[in-house]
Amino acid sequence: MKHIFVTGGVVSSLGKGLAAAALGRTLENRGLKVVMQKFDPYLNVDPGTMSPFQHGEVYVLNDGTETDLDLGHYERFTSGVLTKHNNLTSGQVYLRVIEKERNGDYLGKTVQVVPHVTNEIKERIHLIESEQPQADVMITEIGGTTGDIEGLPFLEAIRQFILERGPTNAIVMHVTLLPFIKAAGELKTKPSQQSVAKLREIGLQPQVLVCRTEHALDDEIRAKLSTYCNVPLKAVIEMRDVAHTIYEAPLMLHREHLDDTVCELLGLNAPPPEMGDWERFVKRVINPKKHVKVGFVGKYTDLQDAYKSVYESLTHAAASHDCGITVQKIDAEELENDPTAAERLLGGVAGVLVPGGFGERGVEGKVVAARYAREHQLPYLGLCLGMQIATIEFARHVCHIEQANSTEFDPKSPDQVICLLEEQRNVKKKGATMRLGLSEAVLAPDTLTAQVYGRPSVMERHRHRYEFNMKYRDVMAKNGFVISGTSPDGKLVELIEIDPKIHPWFVACQFHPEFQSKPNAPHPLFRGFIGACLAHGS
Ligand code: GLN
Repeated sequence: MKHIFVTGGVVSSLGKGLAAAALGRTLENRGLKVVMQKFDPYLNVDPGTMSPFQHGEVYVLNDGTETDLDLGHYERFTSGVLTKHNNLTSGQVYLRVIEKERNGDYLGKTVQVVPHVTNEIKERIHLIESEQPQADVMITEIGGTTGDIEGLPFLEAIRQFILERGPTNAIVMHVTLLPFIKAAGELKTKPSQQSVAKLREIGLQPQVLVCRTEHALDDEIRAKLSTYCNVPLKAVIEMRDVAHTIYEAPLMLHREHLDDTVCELLGLNAPPPEMGDWERFVKRVINPKKHVKVGFVGKYTDLQDAYKSVYESLTHAAASHDCGITVQKIDAEELENDPTAAERLLGGVAGVLVPGGFGERGVEGKVVAARYAREHQLPYLGLCLGMQIATIEFARHVCHIEQANSTEFDPKSPDQVICLLEEQRNVKKKGATMRLGLSEAVLAPDTLTAQVYGRPSVMERHRHRYEFNMKYRDVMAKNGFVISGTSPDGKLVELIEIDPKIHPWFVACQFHPEFQSKPNAPHPLFRGFIGACLAHGS
């Protein structure tokens, strides 16, 4: 198996994950089998306990692992279905090393970063090699920026690995920033030179330099980067800010011959990639025939990364309708205390989406949004918390259960229409203790939901603690609240809808469909929602 290690220089948020994923896509389109993984130098065991302010979205895999959002890029750009082995954090590495030490596995020895921590990191690469022997290429992205103290053990492990395998079997692709100084009208190469020098100091020489830049690289800049960073000229790759959509990245990098260069360096014999399908998708995103505006009511609407997969899923679904999309981001708290806010903020949208979330803040504003959508016959899509909100709203304003709430937000409410599962009641630890990962939902025949999916049962990814309280099933049903999907034993509510005789398109799910949408394979719920928004018009 050949290896590409992706490092980042100069600043964070460079789009390293995107560059890695885009490379993965072009290599797959050349017929190669690619496996992708991320090393994260932070000490959290996983990002599941971090706030969106710290970390952006927590991406959930089929096996329930809570991971970095870059794994979302990997799954959306490539055909890979990732597992807990594809995201390694320093927290996991140290936990393992210390467990082994307590077990006596290193008996007699001093336990050190080199070799024990670095061996543990290399072990992970070996593990994936043995799990996926059919893969031709493994792309490993290292989180953080060169020069970070916590990244050092990972870089040292890679240095050893490249030494062991040889430079035709394992290479480093360094993603760096070329700042543009307006006053001088110049792109600057010095920060990149210095970050490569930093890598060389620890024995790593990048073979490929991917340059994030607002402006085109001219021959002079390319030559300078090649000389000072000690990288062949053709391996200096321009990665401009995408004009329209991140999905342009594979096309852009392919035009720069990144995949050719990588194949040459690694001695991979693979035909040029067929990018037609991808190009057609990108064209639909850039030049849509129609347009739709949806209201997105969340709590972290100012943060670009907090709902990453939801925004991407909307893009995929809209493109499949040859439709452009404007996501009107609405801060849930703004809807809370002002009775005119709903009309003002939601008046012009063709549909309302309430995504997942935790904690009480903003909840009442989301209830206002769900009510507005229900009363105005606006298509509604609720994801996880968005389903719980729709349930609370319906119970309060249609079934007249005035104090209806979730245990999470009001543990004293006499009507906890959303409550804790029995098995969650005694859980005190916070790490990886929610209901997580793939489980089956059986759809009720003759529902809008079943029609949208076109299948009798589905497998979806979960990340939540609270559930619909079955005590309220009958009273809700009498009023037109349809349970349209349940766990196979019928005990857990997975999907709900409002009777289509009462409302044209009101669907919500207890899981996260956004983790299974792909550019050319949009998720049915998102696709159905956008279809309904188009039918409604804005
Ligand atoms: N806070 C809710 C729960 O834990 C919803 C979680 C979510 O939206 N991911 O059940």
